[in-house]
Amino acid sequence: MYLHEAIYDIDELMRENLHIHTNLFSGCAKPEMVFADIVRTAEKAGLARIAVTDHVQEYDVEHVRNILKTYIPARDAMQTDVKVYVGAELSAFDTDKFTLQHTDLTTEFNLYAANHYHVSSWGQPAERTAVGYKEHNKKAMEFLIRSGKCDCIAHPFVDSYVKIDEIRNPEHPMTAAWTDNELGDILCLAKEYAVMWELPPKIVEGDPVFAKRLFNIGKEVGSVFTMGTDAHWLVNIDTARFTEIYKKILT
Ligand SMILES: [Zn+2]
Ligand SMILES: [Zn+2]
Repeated sequence: MYLHEAIYDIDELMRENLHIHTNLFSGCAKPEMVFADIVRTAEKAGLARIAVTDHVQEYDVEHVRNILKTYIPARDAMQTDVKVYVGAELSAFDTDKFTLQHTDLTTEFNLYAANHYHVSSWGQPAERTAVGYKEHNKKAMEFLIRSGKCDCIAHPFVDSYVKIDEIRNPEHPMTAAWTDNELGDILCLAKEYAVMWELPPKIVEGDPVFAKRLFNIGKEVGSVFTMGTDAHWLVNIDTARFTEIYKKILT
């Protein structure tokens, strides 16, 4: 489900951070990532919307229940002008497998990673080449989108989690393997199912050539992009320091 209309104005996009990890449910988040402090930090940064999105691996539905049980009451008890979504960074961990697949349970923001190839339980392509990974990732995203369970795809398309040097290199052969037509097709499919695309620094700074293609084709198609910094530290909640670089690369 879309949380908002399409936003192509970078200043406007920077008013949200829809990818934030917390200390209680993401082992990788710093101890300072306390829910109330995250909300206060977002307030000070002048953000309109944030989402907490802790990691959930495979079919760990219990982890999702604990997140909801903990943070929905905490959010409801807080006085703040920031719209706070209690979501999760769920896993589309193979071409036909994703968290929440066999349950009606849902969060307020089902953000799915489909390319955490560094996780040991993650499905890997038979052919471990840039094209093999791109095809595997494509199938996983298509299956996930068609399920209707996904609100947004986290750090989509990028090779950053593939631990193979010939694939994760400055030429970015994995994202380069997507043709404009294929990109257009999957963006249209996502639009049909109201799935948003995260546009994080990992893409914009990490793979600027692809980021520009994604943004331009997305604008033609009418895709909805979201900003999320994948914050594991409080200092990464404010999005302001990305405004100029995003403008330079995307516009
Ligand atoms: Zn991730
Ligand atoms: Zn994350």
